[in-house]
Amino acid sequence: MSTLSVAKTTQPLFDVYAVRRDFPILSQQVNGKPLVYLDNGASSQRPEAVLQAMDSYYREMHSNVHRGAHTLADRATTAFEGARKKVQQFLNAPSAREIIWTRGTTEAINLVANGLAPLLKPGDEILLSQMEHHANIVPWQMLAERTGAKVLPIDVTPEGELDMDSFHSLLGERTRVLAITHVSNALGTVNPVADMVAKAKTQGVITLVDGAQAVGHFQPDVQALDCDFYVFSAHKLFGPTGIGVLYGRAALLEAMPPWQGGGEMIERVSFAGTTYNTLPYKFEAGTPAIAEAVGLGAAIDYLATLDRDAMEAAESGLLQRANELVSSVPGMTIIGTSPNKVPLISFKIDGLHPSDIGTLLDQQGIAIRAGHHCAMPLMEYYGLPGGTARASFAFYNTLEEVEQLFAALQKIQRLFA
Ligand SMILES: *Cc1c(COP(=O)(O)O)cnc(C)c1O
Repeated sequence: MSTLSVAKTTQPLFDVYAVRRDFPILSQQVNGKPLVYLDNGASSQRPEAVLQAMDSYYREMHSNVHRGAHTLADRATTAFEGARKKVQQFLNAPSAREIIWTRGTTEAINLVANGLAPLLKPGDEILLSQMEHHANIVPWQMLAERTGAKVLPIDVTPEGELDMDSFHSLLGERTRVLAITHVSNALGTVNPVADMVAKAKTQGVITLVDGAQAVGHFQPDVQALDCDFYVFSAHKLFGPTGIGVLYGRAALLEAMPPWQGGGEMIERVSFAGTTYNTLPYKFEAGTPAIAEAVGLGAAIDYLATLDRDAMEAAESGLLQRANELVSSVPGMTIIGTSPNKVPLISFKIDGLHPSDIGTLLDQQGIAIRAGHHCAMPLMEYYGLPGGTARASFAFYNTLEEVEQLFAALQKIQRLFA
């Protein structure tokens, strides 16, 4: 028995090299070098299981959903609604009626902002933060313009955390909505959203959490968070582009007007007046992204085959290695040094423009992102009009890739800074 358990503990719990083989795109050369893909914050890659699920959907079961009285329509509907159930379970949402398909995070936030318009009046306040992605700023500014409400940003600390004093002083009687990101795409900070939602609830505030950067790293539980809305995009969860999710509390979704009009979202249409379909279909006008829903369901199934704890530990190892190596590059500074981070480093190097860092790394096969990361207010706060360079890791990245990034940065710094 004892030898068995020793053998068991020496087995790698999470074999990153085996996992990488599930992602065909990763084993290619770019600019003559093996691809090192560190732009997962912008979009992650798809495992074979997702590609196959979408391919066999089109080969074997495609038809339009819900309407048909034939076998393929039934197959497509079963696959499509099955994917919705997988998302429900992934988020631990109470009901599949509360899972609305959208084109992505951006559309989901626009849908909510539009739906809350009848509930807002002039002088009402919408709390966001200074570290939001533009997708969680602009729809609220448009809502404010329509309703006379005001958008107020919660401050960020120099370390890149939300300033809780600022949050508490802004949260008041006029606050109607709190919309914050679970994880910052530009800094990697994981925000204390459960505490903030709990505090906002005491004032009757409607809460939305932008989970776009969270879902690729950990599994959110909307009941534990107790938020009213949670949104994410499939393409940042190893699934397809063109589809995303809005989780919404049923009572609020029912109170909101429809988003777009058309087929599927209606119960009955006549020129005397139209009545709307029940949840979730009330918010799903037109033919949906069926194959993409199937692909997202396959991504969730794929993730369920991996050991979550081991995967998260491996990701922490990547971040730790990156942090250890920062001092090996003269003039390199990390922007966002919270101890609560996903594996992502936003950085600058004295004497180098972020976009030049991106181009020079690309010549060595290393893909990162450079610029404002759709977070211009945050870049302004840090006085970085050119933005930062950002390396964002996924569970399929290796310690060797972290080391290759830093070896390349050392070379670039030596030759060009
Ligand atoms: C990527 C991202 C978005 C926008 O997602 P889309 O897929 O482009 O709609 C919004 N918020 C955060 C934090 C993001 O990282």
